Amino acid sequence: MSATANPTPAHRPVPIRQTQLFIGGQWTPARSGRSFATVNPATEERIADVAEGDAADVDAAVRAAREAFETGPWSRMDARQRGRLMDRLCDLIEAEIDELAALESLDNGKPFADSRTIDIPLAIECLRYYAGWADKIQGATIPINGNYFCYTRREPVGVVGQVIPWNFPILMIAWKWGPALAAGCTIVMKPAEQTPLSCLRLARLAQKAGIPDGVINVVPGYGPTAGAAIVKHPGIDKIAFTGSGETARIIMRQASETLKRLSFELGGKSPNIVFADADLDAAVAGAHLGIHLNQGQCCCAGSRLFVEDSIHDAVVERVVELSRKRRVGDPFHPDTEQGPQIDKAQFDKIMSYIEAGKREGANCATGGKRHGTKGFFIEPTVFTGVADSMSIAREEIFGPVLSVLRFSDTDELIRRANATDFGLAAAVWTRDVARAHDVARRLRAGTVWVNCYDVFDAAAPFGGFKQSGFGRELGERGLDAYLETKTVTLSLSPPGQA
Ligand code: ADP
Repeated sequence: MSATANPTPAHRPVPIRQTQLFIGGQWTPARSGRSFATVNPATEERIADVAEGDAADVDAAVRAAREAFETGPWSRMDARQRGRLMDRLCDLIEAEIDELAALESLDNGKPFADSRTIDIPLAIECLRYYAGWADKIQGATIPINGNYFCYTRREPVGVVGQVIPWNFPILMIAWKWGPALAAGCTIVMKPAEQTPLSCLRLARLAQKAGIPDGVINVVPGYGPTAGAAIVKHPGIDKIAFTGSGETARIIMRQASETLKRLSFELGGKSPNIVFADADLDAAVAGAHLGIHLNQGQCCCAGSRLFVEDSIHDAVVERVVELSRKRRVGDPFHPDTEQGPQIDKAQFDKIMSYIEAGKREGANCATGGKRHGTKGFFIEPTVFTGVADSMSIAREEIFGPVLSVLRFSDTDELIRRANATDFGLAAAVWTRDVARAHDVARRLRAGTVWVNCYDVFDAAAPFGGFKQSGFGRELGERGLDAYLETKTVTLSLSPPGQA
């Protein structure tokens, strides 16, 4: 927390080109005439007013998406051409990557360098990966009994409602649009109310790329209004949601009325496990990155650091040192490693967990306070002496707050690591290959990293066990959520002999 100790106003001349709803290829104000402010979390200042969609706008968006799905050029287009249009979208993103990265950092607060070198490149990779799938989605021929020809077709599920969070706006768009477009679906997307700007910009680029009107519709707005309208609308076939478990429970109840298909990617309390035989330089760096990447606002954050007894103190010392040195401040300063939390509500929630950690008896080894006086900055925080029962060890904080726990016995460790309702990710650091595979097998999580953390690839499925969600994103499995399987059975008997 040195170079940029006092956060300076994160101003940068970023043109705000789109602030209206994008429905059926048209930019329109909300039917209610309402708008809401999107705020720069580094300065707490308004960036722009954005049209605030609600049920009436969602209804128009669903009609546009339905028409594009049923009758538009999208439904008749060759699959390979769909892939080409997705590639063209990627070319356009690449062409204005600096502007997009600035827009993302302005709206979200994440360091510009991260937007520019992590988020957007990963988003492009994801869209290109799924562009390649567009003409490779195949059924099977099936040897059923009798004189029949039986085959399956994999068909798009239809109109999909996609509701995404604010922590990785552009990346979440790519994770959602990629498989949906490759499958041939049409989309009604609601970005998070905190971060609507990059989504609107990408919609414009999609149109410029030639993706037909009505295929992608964007309705910014609030969850209980615009989000709920998407969830309830009978013209939507499937909901893909990334966000909190509380919202997922509401969505599941509301979507039950129309029996929509659901895929959820929710929270986590991921164990990051360091055995005494690990490469400690790598493990310490991984522990630091695992919790602090993206201001700790990652569903897969390694927020429970389990360290084997004999190396506990050495690891703690180094992890604390790295946290102390972490440069917090203006997202646009080239040295900045950590920006502000997304908004006041998240800031308050994280600070209340920090207070709870202190109250419940954990030792706050570094951090624990607000950073600066303006913007939602929080010091990188490490708690030691954490007991499994403490709230900071059990609940998702979604901020730069690490809980360090000790262990000595592997069986006991596995039991403790799995003693959570979450199951999104986990990591293990060891030089013992057999132990690495054994622990990876026994951890109840959708992703296990060995001697690394936060390694994502468009080809590798990601998603949760237990209450971290269901369905998978990325990879071939990521297509499943957007496809129906149709079985076609045809009699081969000559006429009159069936
Ligand atoms: P977070 O706590 O990370 O903001 P949320 O689950 O509240 O997570 O938000 C994730 C996304 O879900 C956002 O786009 C938000 O607007 C949306 N959302 C919130 N409540 C609802 C709801 N009742 N129905 C549909 N979407 C919702």
